[in-house]
Amino acid sequence: MSTHYDFKAIETRLREKWLSEKTFSVTRDPGKKKFYLLEMFPYPSGKLHVGHLRNYAIGDVIARRKRMEGHNVLHPIGWDSFGMPAENAAIQNKSHPYKWTMSNIEEMRRQFMKMGVSYDWDREVATSHPGYYKWTQWIFARMYDEGVAYRKKSFVNWCGPCGTVLANEQVVESNCWRCDNPVEQQEREGWFLAITKYADNLLEGLKDLEQGWPERVLVMQQNWIGKSLGAEVDFTLEKTGEKLKVFTTRPDTLYGATFMALAPEHPLASMLATGTDREKEVETFIREAVRQDKTERTAEGGDKKGVFTGAYAINPLNGERIPVWIANFVLIEYGSGAIMSVPAHDQRDFEFARKYGIDIRVVIAPEEEAAGKDHANYTSDPALLKEAYPGGGIMVNSGPFSGLNNRNEGIAKVIDHLQSKGIGARMVNYRLRDWGVSRQRYWGAPIPMIHCGKCGIVRVPDEQLPVILPTDIEFPESGHSPIAGNEEFINTSCPKCGGAARRETDTMDTFMCSSWYYNRYTSARCQTAFAAREDLDYWAPVDQYVGGIEHAILHLLYSRFFTRFLHDIGAVDFKEPFKRLLTQGMVIKDGAKMSKSKGNVVSLDVMSDRYGADATRLFILFAAPPERDLEWSDAGIEGSFRFLNRVYRWLEANLETIKGGGDRPTGLEGLSPEAANVRRATHKTIARVTFDMDRFQFNTAIAAIMEFMNILGAAKLGGAPEDGAVMAEAAESLLLLLNPFTPHLCAHMWEQAGRPGSILDHPWPGAMAECMVEESIEIVLQINGKLRGRLLAPPDVTKEQMEMLALADEKVKGYLEGKPPRKVVVVPGRLVNIVV
Ligand SMILES: [Zn+2]
Ligand SMILES: [Zn+2]
Repeated sequence: MSTHYDFKAIETRLREKWLSEKTFSVTRDPGKKKFYLLEMFPYPSGKLHVGHLRNYAIGDVIARRKRMEGHNVLHPIGWDSFGMPAENAAIQNKSHPYKWTMSNIEEMRRQFMKMGVSYDWDREVATSHPGYYKWTQWIFARMYDEGVAYRKKSFVNWCGPCGTVLANEQVVESNCWRCDNPVEQQEREGWFLAITKYADNLLEGLKDLEQGWPERVLVMQQNWIGKSLGAEVDFTLEKTGEKLKVFTTRPDTLYGATFMALAPEHPLASMLATGTDREKEVETFIREAVRQDKTERTAEGGDKKGVFTGAYAINPLNGERIPVWIANFVLIEYGSGAIMSVPAHDQRDFEFARKYGIDIRVVIAPEEEAAGKDHANYTSDPALLKEAYPGGGIMVNSGPFSGLNNRNEGIAKVIDHLQSKGIGARMVNYRLRDWGVSRQRYWGAPIPMIHCGKCGIVRVPDEQLPVILPTDIEFPESGHSPIAGNEEFINTSCPKCGGAARRETDTMDTFMCSSWYYNRYTSARCQTAFAAREDLDYWAPVDQYVGGIEHAILHLLYSRFFTRFLHDIGAVDFKEPFKRLLTQGMVIKDGAKMSKSKGNVVSLDVMSDRYGADATRLFILFAAPPERDLEWSDAGIEGSFRFLNRVYRWLEANLETIKGGGDRPTGLEGLSPEAANVRRATHKTIARVTFDMDRFQFNTAIAAIMEFMNILGAAKLGGAPEDGAVMAEAAESLLLLLNPFTPHLCAHMWEQAGRPGSILDHPWPGAMAECMVEESIEIVLQINGKLRGRLLAPPDVTKEQMEMLALADEKVKGYLEGKPPRKVVVVPGRLVNIVV
């Protein structure tokens, strides 16, 4: 038997055993409570580094613990394997996205296996596999039938030479990241999903997640949906008499509107200046503004830029003429892409007005300032204002509405007035927009639609799914998608009239593939549905989801939307896909997030070769609580490795005692002080680790196990039979508590110690209260001041407990002869004197 911790041999043997025995493959078992644990699946981008491992290590600890608690644990993995990086890498390396993707998957699968993550490999899926994307297309088809998927025109970043829409991130200083040509804003037809139909539902549903999701994720989703109540107001363009609808959440400030601002993409933006001397300036401004990144445009403190169109609009409430500007911070996606600007009461408008010398007019005054003044002719010097006043108060300089409290009645009265005059209406607005899912790229799921000259747009019938993405392609030099010009793919016949027709060549946004994948794992090889109903009903929804906070909005919101849609068509019986969510922090090295592009990556293979999978996992889980950022440290992983060596050596040294350990004693009775000390530490550690793990505080749980190990290492137990039993119990508990973190070492030593069965399915240990009591203290019992006996009590015993214990004592009872005592004197922690 080897006396050093040969992690390579131990880990290799168990890894192979678990894989060949399919230890983590599970099946439906209605007699057993299920637990569905899922980590956000990875994009197969190359090799995993230690920064990636964190998400999966956290998930694996939870999965293994739940299994020990007797759950039927579903813990699957797969690949989010469509997407731009594969296509770009293929173009650069003159390879094929399929080859690039598959070789990355193989590499990463090998790494997951090496790290001992407890996946059910029989359920592995890849979104780029036709057996998977058939169902992505099937869901799209259902959405089309229900009117949730539709086609419309919208503005997109368009690179002509590359023939594709670019994401904002792919526009580098107004140029295409790939060919460096200027990017245009083009109106293009594409496919959209009407997620806005679900806006209220998605908002309402957040309430059901309050117990299980981090609050900040809920807040981010709420803000993203961005429901606001207000009014739509019709302004009139002076020149043409055209109506300009604006949405405002502050109709109470209408009298303070001193300019209007249009989004640069607004159809009227360029028209208003056409034929005037402002035309050139306006056009230049629009061209530059539309290229600017949208988050940059709207960022707080960002540079507010604008241009006056030369046109005026009429305020419907007071007939005032106000200038119409175009401003970079107004987005076409919000409301109607036109806003009324009230600089006195909106900070963004305030900064813009100051920059361009536009009037600022106060129309809301704080109550204490407005008291006793003439509200209709309120004077205040705008030049003195340092910032906008967005708060509540009394409406001033607001015609007939002057003097009203804006929040209590002002807003409602203004809206009533607008409605009665037919110049506006009460309205709810959402920040959420419909989701554009068309991509003019190759490496994605084909959108299952057909364009027929006679019938128009026709959906591919279900029996013809999947529409296969051709793989025998070459990338044209132009950068266009290889299927856009692939006649073999494009030419088809119309399912309705049988005539010649053309396939849609746009592919789907890969976020669609990841919006429903958690369903597929429940029956990954199902041929007749996206998942068999009985599997869905048993396994879904996900009980615990683990992933990065960067997915707080898009992926998690889209998944919630898909689930609600599938629920509406009766395909699933739950409305929320993820009951609980844990968002882990980043792994930091040298002050930056660990990533390939930053060049600060620590190789997972190097670490696991040097220290083993167990030590690597242990360090990742010990270095910080899951939700916090983790600072990588070479000394830290060495510390974890040394700790495992100590565990190994201690177990080895005491193997015979542990194997021989007889019946467990009751509580601490009859144990030597040293044995009692070890047993107490054992049960206190079980209690502490259980408590911490229930809260995912893995770092403090591991710290408690390390302290326990210190006590075990120092303990000197003798040869008494109870000592052997105490030692065996301590060793067994140590292995059970460590097992979720360092499964290879624990499974190995479990076998070495001759413990029956597999540690993987051994019940999680329970702490026994009677084994945790501190050493007893002796209490003197007196009757009328004379010593009559002694009793043992815990050190923290209270006065009341001492009196009760004394009166229950057999000797004392004998002296009392059934009569109540005249008086009881208690000296805390020392004696009880009973006066009879
Ligand atoms: Zn280009
Ligand atoms: Zn047709």
